[in-house]
Amino acid sequence: MADGMAGSGASLPSVGPDARRRRVSYFYEPTIGDYYYGQGHPMKPHRIRMAHNLIVHYSLHRRMEICRPFPAAPSDIRLFHSPDYVDFLSSVTPETIADLAFSRQLKRFNVGEDCPVFDGLFGFCQASTGGSIGAAVKLNRGDADIALNWAGGLHHAKKSEASGFCYVNDIVLGILELLKVHRRVLYVDIDVHHGDGVEEAFYTTDRVMTVSFHKFGDFFPGSGHIKDIGAGSGKNYALNVPLNDGIDDESFQGIFRPIIQKVMEVYQPDAVVLQCGADSLSGDRLGCFNLSVRGHADCLRFLRSFDVPLMVLGGGGYTMRNVARCWCYETAVAVGVEPDNNLPYNEYYEYFGPDYTLHIDPCSMENLNAPKDLERIRSMLLEQLSRIPCAPSVPFQTTPATMQIPEEEEEDMDERPKQRIWDGEGYDSESEQEDKSRHRSMETDALKVENIETRDVPVTDKEEDAKMDEHPL
Ligand SMILES: [Zn+2]
Repeated sequence: MADGMAGSGASLPSVGPDARRRRVSYFYEPTIGDYYYGQGHPMKPHRIRMAHNLIVHYSLHRRMEICRPFPAAPSDIRLFHSPDYVDFLSSVTPETIADLAFSRQLKRFNVGEDCPVFDGLFGFCQASTGGSIGAAVKLNRGDADIALNWAGGLHHAKKSEASGFCYVNDIVLGILELLKVHRRVLYVDIDVHHGDGVEEAFYTTDRVMTVSFHKFGDFFPGSGHIKDIGAGSGKNYALNVPLNDGIDDESFQGIFRPIIQKVMEVYQPDAVVLQCGADSLSGDRLGCFNLSVRGHADCLRFLRSFDVPLMVLGGGGYTMRNVARCWCYETAVAVGVEPDNNLPYNEYYEYFGPDYTLHIDPCSMENLNAPKDLERIRSMLLEQLSRIPCAPSVPFQTTPATMQIPEEEEEDMDERPKQRIWDGEGYDSESEQEDKSRHRSMETDALKVENIETRDVPVTDKEEDAKMDEHPL
């Protein structure tokens, strides 16, 4: 094992293969936080701006190359998505949504509930995807060892369908770019939800191995069974790690490290993509795991230790203050520093009370993952990995094979019930109103230290939501 350290608070190793400094490129679109899914919607691009703000106030930006992504062009997006779906995404607006021509397409493309039409929707998709393609180009050219894009990681989007707050699958498009230069790409997904869109795209190829750790059983999107292992040339190149509620740092590391260690030995990828969905953190509004920021970041720490070109993406994460903490800390892990646990003053300081610390304590919820169950899962997956040849010499295609799902009949599409990632429950507007006046003065004076509000009680999800919903910034 290249990295002997297991989630301790110590600095990264100063000797050994991990000691070499990594060249890190960080993709950030300054307007990303302005996009707004709608009142009460749990997906808030503002969390990316909050993370960025912490990153800057910890001075981590001085240790990275900062890149503003080029917006992905429709022709880039069509390399995975169907032309009619891309046309729809690029032309629909909240104003035209009622037009007869659009109303049928809304259903067909699963746009409306979980995936609403909001102002600037396509611009948001272009920024998110542009960051992941840009990150891939950096790695392809050998200009960076690690490339970060917290606005990416939207793993549920399908070829012709939005799903689970995702419209364009920046990950699939980023991997397709990597495959121009790299023979084998490993995709690892630690979002609490199954990485279904990415798995599906590469289900029949051995040029991409997908490994998803997720809650399985009566949970969105419903896929990700341990026996779903890939098909055709891709058989055994999809791995699914089904987990239960309440998994903690120790249990997660106990299954993540041995599986990934074996994957790296057997598959020997030329590049790795890590989706760091932060809804697997303790206390997430939609998730049910119990990971600390440190436990979550251990996955990045471990993958980094193999010193293979690494793309690091965001994903889910619905308790904004913790998402910002997590992605800031993971940025620090990428550049190889250990930041102070006391948060620096920043524009969103009041979100982080009452402790104003970078790290969070897991809660006391029960871990429903019994050691014997985890042992069985681990041995089944190690057995699956023993069935693939070491460093498979895959044919180098110029046109990589993403799975072609036959278009379904429209009648069937209309009949099929769409599963939802979120029950649609928002927070009541009364408390949002209440919060409005208090927060408004914060917004204008946030930079004046003397005006920063400190709190004795934790910020609640409802309050966090209210801060946003009253300020579609
Ligand atoms: Zn998720």
